Amino acid sequence: MSQIQIGLLLLLLTLLGVVGYNVYLKEITPNEISYTEFMDKLQKGQIKSVHLRGGAVEGEDIGKQSFSSYIPDVPETITILKEKSVQITAEKDNENIGGFLKSMVPVFLILGGYLIFSRTQKGSGSAGLGKNKYSSFVPSKNTKVSFEDVAGISEARSELIEIVESLKNPDKFSSLGGYIPKGVLLQGPPGTGKTLLAKAIAGEASVPFFSIGGSDFVEMFVGVGASRVRELFTEAKKNAPAIIFIDEIDAIGGKRSGGNATGSNDEREQTLNALLVEMDGFNSDQTVIIIAATNRPDMLDPALLRPGRFDRQVTINLPDVKGRRKILEVHAKKIIMQPGINLSEIARSIPGFSGAEIANLVNEAALMAARHNKIAVELSDFEEAKDKISLGLERKNVVINETIRRVTAYHEAGHAITAKLLPETDPVHKITIIPRGRALGLTQQLPLDDRYTYSRNYLINRIKILMGGRVAEEIVFGHQTTGASNDILTATDIANRLVCEFGMSQAIGPVAYIQEQGGFLGGSTITKPYSEKTAENIDREIKRIIEECYQETVELLTENNKFLHKLAEALLVNETVDGEEMDIVHYCYMNEKRIEKKFMKNHKEG
Ligand code: ADP
Ligand code: ZN
Repeated sequence: MSQIQIGLLLLLLTLLGVVGYNVYLKEITPNEISYTEFMDKLQKGQIKSVHLRGGAVEGEDIGKQSFSSYIPDVPETITILKEKSVQITAEKDNENIGGFLKSMVPVFLILGGYLIFSRTQKGSGSAGLGKNKYSSFVPSKNTKVSFEDVAGISEARSELIEIVESLKNPDKFSSLGGYIPKGVLLQGPPGTGKTLLAKAIAGEASVPFFSIGGSDFVEMFVGVGASRVRELFTEAKKNAPAIIFIDEIDAIGGKRSGGNATGSNDEREQTLNALLVEMDGFNSDQTVIIIAATNRPDMLDPALLRPGRFDRQVTINLPDVKGRRKILEVHAKKIIMQPGINLSEIARSIPGFSGAEIANLVNEAALMAARHNKIAVELSDFEEAKDKISLGLERKNVVINETIRRVTAYHEAGHAITAKLLPETDPVHKITIIPRGRALGLTQQLPLDDRYTYSRNYLINRIKILMGGRVAEEIVFGHQTTGASNDILTATDIANRLVCEFGMSQAIGPVAYIQEQGGFLGGSTITKPYSEKTAENIDREIKRIIEECYQETVELLTENNKFLHKLAEALLVNETVDGEEMDIVHYCYMNEKRIEKKFMKNHKEG
C-alpha cells in the first residue's frame, strides 16, 4: 500500500469512528427533557438531585429516573432548587471543550495507532509527532537530493564520494581495505548547505536519512535526551545502511564542564555520553554513518573527535564569487528568468552571502516579479530582493564593509607577495578574503615536502611573511589595524624559538635555553635557568630580529608595490586567488616591469 492509500483509509476509519462514537454518546446520554418540563417537575417537588455544569443539568427524580436538560437562567433556578431542598452538585463550565474532546476520542485513538503503525514500517515517511521527533528521509524520486543540488563543494567532493561508496557497497569497500567512516563532522557557518549536503549523501547512496537537531535536546527532562539518542540509533541500525544527521551538535557535544554542573548541563552530559556509547558500540556489519553539523567546532568536546568517532572533518566555507554563481544557477533553475540575466554579475554584488541567503535571494526576486505582475524575473527584481535581504543582514552586522574588504585584500596580498618573492619559502597555495571564523582572510602555503628541519633563512622568511600583512596595510593605508595581531604573536614566537631553542642567534650563541620534554608528544618544556642579563639579551635579540624583518619587508613591498596593488585588485574581484592565478598576476607584473625598464632606458638614450 502506498502512503496515500494508507492515509485515505485512515481518514475513512476516522470519520466512521467519529460518527459511531457520537451515536454511542447519544445512547448513554440520559433522557433529555425541556426546561418547561424540568421546572414543572421541580415545582411539583419531584426532583431529588441535580448536577450542574454551567447551564447543563443532569439529575435524578424521585422515581430514580435520570434526566438532562438545559437551564437558561441558572441563578434564579438555583434559588428554587434550594427552596425545594434538592441536592445540588456542580462543576466548572467546560462542557464545550469536554464534549469536543469526547467526540475527538476516536481521532486520537486512530492517530495514535497510525503513529505506532508508521514506526513499525521500514523507512517510513516523515513522522515528526510525539515521541518520535526525528524524521526519516526516504529517497524517492521526487524528494531525492543529489550532489547536483549542492553547488560549490568541489573541494570536499572526493571525500564525500568515498562516504557514498562505503554506504552503497559496505562489503566491497571494506574488502578492498577501505576504512568505513563512522562519523563525519561538517563544519562551517550557518546556511552553507551542511544539512543539504548530508541529505545529498543519503540521496546519492539511496539510504534512509534520520535527523535530529541538537537543540531538540535542550530544555528537556533529564534522561529524555539520552533515551532519544538510543532510540534513534536503534531505529537507524534496523534500517542499515543508513545516515543519522545531528544538526547543531554543539548543543549537546559542547565541552563538558566537569565541576559546576547545573541541571541542564547534567542533561546535556547524559545525552552526550549516550551518543558516545552508541557510536562506540557499532558492529562493522551495521553501516550507519553519523553526520553532524556545527558552526562552532572549537566548542566541541574533544572526546567527540577521537578516532572511531567524528574523525572525518569536512569544512564548508562561505562561497566565493564562483561558488555563489553556481549556487545561483542551481536555484535559478526553479524560476522563470528573463533571458540574458548575468548571474556572474549578481554573484559579484553579494559578497558574504551564504548559500541559504542566495536561495532566499532567488526566491525573493521571484516574489518581487510576481508582485509586479511580470511574466519572468528581471535583473531589477534581483536588485530589489538584494537590497531587502542586505538590509536585514546589515542589521545582523554580517555584511562585509567595503573598507574592511579592501584592507583585508591588501593584508593578505602582503603575506602572499612576501612569500612569493623571498627564497626558501613554501609556495602559496591559496589566498582568500572570505571570512572564516574570526579571521577576515587567509593566505595558505603548502610545503613542497614534509620538512623535518628548518634552515635559519626559512624561519626568518616566515617571520617576514607574517609581517607582510601589516606592512602592506601600513604602506597603502598608512595606518595599522588589529587584524595583524595574531601574525605578530606567531612571528614573536618564531623569533623566540630561533633564539632560545634553536640557538640560531649570533648574539646569544648556540645555547638552548629551552628543552623539550616528552619527545614526540610535544608536551611540556623546561626552561634552563639563566641570569637577568641573559634574559635582557634574549629580549633585545628577539626585538632586533623582528624589527629587522619588518624593515626588510617594508623595503620588499615598497619596491614591488605595483605587484601588491595588482594582487589586491585580483582578490577584491575574485575573493580567492590560487597559486596558479597568482603566478599569472606575477608574470604580468614582471612583464610590465621589463617594458618599463626598456622604456626608461630608451628615454635616457634618446
Ligand atoms: P546549514 O545546514 O549549513 O545551516 P542548509 O543546508 O540548511 O545550511 O541550507 C539552507 C538552504 O540554503 C538549502 O536548503 C539550500 O536551498 C540553500 N543552500 C545552502 N548552501 C547551498 C549550496 N552549496 N548549493 C545550493 N543551495 C544551497
Ligand atoms: Zn595576517
